[in-house]
Amino acid sequence: MQQDNIVIQAPAQATRRSTREWQQADAAHFLHPFTDTAALAKKGARIITKAENIYLWDSEGHKILDGMSGLWCVNTGYSQPSLIEAANRQMKELPYYNAFFQTSTIPAIELAELLAQVTPPQFKHVFYGTSGSESNDTVVRLVRHYWALQGQPERQVIIARKNGYHGSTMAGASLSGMAYMHAQGGLPIPNITHIQQPFWYELGGDMSPDEFGKVAAGWLEERILEVGPEKVAAFIGEPIQGAGGVIIPPKTYWPEIQRICDKYGILLVSDEVICGFGRTGNWFGCETMGSKPDLMTFAKGVTAGYVPLGGVMVSDRVADVLIEKGGEFEHGYTYSGHPVACAVAVANIKLMQQQKLVEHVRDDVGPYLAQQFETLRDHPLVGEAVSCGLMGAIQLVKDKATRQFFPSSLEVGMVCRGHCFGNGLVMRAVGDRMVIAPPLIITRAQIDEMMTLIRRCLDLTLADVK
Ligand code: PLP
Repeated sequence: MQQDNIVIQAPAQATRRSTREWQQADAAHFLHPFTDTAALAKKGARIITKAENIYLWDSEGHKILDGMSGLWCVNTGYSQPSLIEAANRQMKELPYYNAFFQTSTIPAIELAELLAQVTPPQFKHVFYGTSGSESNDTVVRLVRHYWALQGQPERQVIIARKNGYHGSTMAGASLSGMAYMHAQGGLPIPNITHIQQPFWYELGGDMSPDEFGKVAAGWLEERILEVGPEKVAAFIGEPIQGAGGVIIPPKTYWPEIQRICDKYGILLVSDEVICGFGRTGNWFGCETMGSKPDLMTFAKGVTAGYVPLGGVMVSDRVADVLIEKGGEFEHGYTYSGHPVACAVAVANIKLMQQQKLVEHVRDDVGPYLAQQFETLRDHPLVGEAVSCGLMGAIQLVKDKATRQFFPSSLEVGMVCRGHCFGNGLVMRAVGDRMVIAPPLIITRAQIDEMMTLIRRCLDLTLADVK
């Protein structure tokens, strides 16, 4: 996959101070997200200073293959000139104007039109925010408002899943099914409940994946009946759980979830913040997994992470009610439809179309990655190695035959992650599940390079834990 040519200048800002000085300033003033600040201060942050294609460089000059597309977002790769030019042009012409008070901007309109083209046919409307968390907050307000307009205000409950991730704001973290997040700050907010995740490798026992997929979807129906169907507003899930460790549900799962939502008239929300914009080999993960959502949240890949943008795609089922009966929706953000972010998103989607990136993932590098992952299964540490499109996970286990995990106290995933950093690869550890989601522009040769690094890091980890 070709990346437009661009020459990266030496990272001038990196050379103004030594790495140690940057680390000291970082520790003195910067509270990092999802980070133990005291531990980081002892070690010192890795300072990333430049990037090109699928590679990063740190302040010490180390080259690193970014197997995570930043935080699952730099789908079209670093330093794409058309995105940079779009931001630059829009900054000069109209750096900001809002979408309140009956005003609009050209990039926001153009992007809304383009999103209606690339999303599944039930979607013609978008509500903009700036992040995945905000988009999921919007969903909570939107679905409750929808049901109130339908004369069923008691439909308040949103069902989500354990180990799902939907963001860090009050509503986003409440929808997320991470107990460690709920433990801080008194979450979840009322009327959000979680069912078990469709993780066959851990929970499937003797069932085949297909049998387990139906059983796991059945947990939704059980919860709907416990809560009372007349109180349930919506079900939300990621087509493939990303931050939870790339949990790819069996193929029977989502069609059965769809059937259950239809049966009880419940709104289905697909959180496409990671799976959207080509990651799974289709424009959206729901297309790969076989569901027809009423609402879809997106962020990350829409701008390839170059500037913040998120939003909610609203299907005709919901939009018609909002528009015809809703009057004013008392909700919105200063940066809803930010013109610079929208201009970058338009350029990014056009780039994806021109470079046929979705097809590249679906027909070429996605299947190639799956083949390469197959070969990892003979490694003594690897319980399963699974992928879909360009997201994959390697489960490190103590005993492959019995699917027995390591005690969490050994932190085997963190050991492996340390070897990855040390060997020029970014791979994320979710417990002992090693996760990758490289930029969609990756080539077969770069996948080979990544696989060599992965094998090396698995071998080094094995030597440490045996
Ligand atoms: N939803 C999903 C599926 C995510 O993976 C994330 C972030 O990783 C979010 C929502 C939250 O997005 P943001 O960090 O942009 O608020």
